[in-house]
Amino acid sequence: MSDGVWAAPGRVNLIGEHTDYNDGFVMPFALPHTTVATVTRRDDGWLRLHSADAEGGPVELRVGDLRPGGPGGWTDYPAGVVWALREAGHAVDGADIHYESTVPTGAGLSSSAALEVVTALALSDLYELGLDRGSIARLCRRAENVYVGAPTGIMDQTASACCTEGHALYLDTRDLTRRQIPFDPAAHGLRLLVMDTRVTHAHSEGEYGKRRTGCEAGAAALGVNALRDIAYDALDTALARLDDGELRRLVRHVVTENHRVERAIMHLEADEAELIGPVLSEGHVSLRDDFRVSCPELDLVVDSALAAGALGARMTGGGFGGSAVVLTRTSSADRVSKAVLEAFAAQSRIAPRIFTATAAAGARRLS
Ligand code: ADP
Ligand code: MG
Repeated sequence: MSDGVWAAPGRVNLIGEHTDYNDGFVMPFALPHTTVATVTRRDDGWLRLHSADAEGGPVELRVGDLRPGGPGGWTDYPAGVVWALREAGHAVDGADIHYESTVPTGAGLSSSAALEVVTALALSDLYELGLDRGSIARLCRRAENVYVGAPTGIMDQTASACCTEGHALYLDTRDLTRRQIPFDPAAHGLRLLVMDTRVTHAHSEGEYGKRRTGCEAGAAALGVNALRDIAYDALDTALARLDDGELRRLVRHVVTENHRVERAIMHLEADEAELIGPVLSEGHVSLRDDFRVSCPELDLVVDSALAAGALGARMTGGGFGGSAVVLTRTSSADRVSKAVLEAFAAQSRIAPRIFTATAAAGARRLS
């Protein structure tokens, strides 16, 4: 007998890419795919972790010995959460946790945040810590940044912790204010397809670092704290002040991308969901040509989907592989999917994995 069962979802970012480390705007929604944790509290100083989706048996760790820079591997994510809880002064003294997940790992759909958030929510409930959703997201981000050592922003954890069914989550990554934006494609005769290219190009981490540094240099050259501080109306003036073509392209992406998030919100709140299609496609062009984080597989998904009549398409996540999102009318979804698969077959590439995404609930207790 366990003490309870909790679930936390993966997420897909609808729009607002590479804006999070520029204090900008993002708009993810939660997927129906979840990581489920079956948890028993224990107070003997031991953390026992097992995942049906990882190789090997249960791993036992002493909570008092948890330190960043540990052994590595999947247990760093939940162990990092326990470490971050204890660091924050919460007397968490152990647990037995069994995980089962339907979130694809490494597909840019945030299985890592699902794993962290489900752990934090379960421990908050079992130890009666009363953590609110924003605190859970921040704590999980700290676990991933400091304990796992992955320099991610706050979006993934916030999406997993704070999303609600039928909505995308607008998040201002500077002040962490959030707003639920109605997002229910089916109600508008639409479908949002996620297409996982099943490739990850090896240079992605180094390139991510370079984009971050480049954005910081752009902000410094323009005398602002972060590129978020450049208003869309002031973009041309800002670009005219930059001599370096590379910096100009990075700045233009971030400023126009923040504006695209605002445009998408406007359409969704006006009940004109289909009008976000061109906004998504413009976002892809900007990520491909200005920010240069796309790859042949993501471009092929987007180009073949649009050629087959999709309303909009773009890469989602960090880039250099991972997934794309494609908005279609419900009536043309099958045709678009087929066209994409045919385009990949014609180039003898691995077939993408395609599924329909609905905006599902954030983390919750199941029993
Ligand atoms: P993403 O978050 O986009 O899926 P990451 O590289 O950030 O990709 O996180 C993937 C890693 O998270 C996996 O390699 C694994 O270590 C860990 N992970 C995620 N979900 C699980 C799970 N259910 N069981 C074990 N490990 C998991
Ligand atoms: Mg991740």
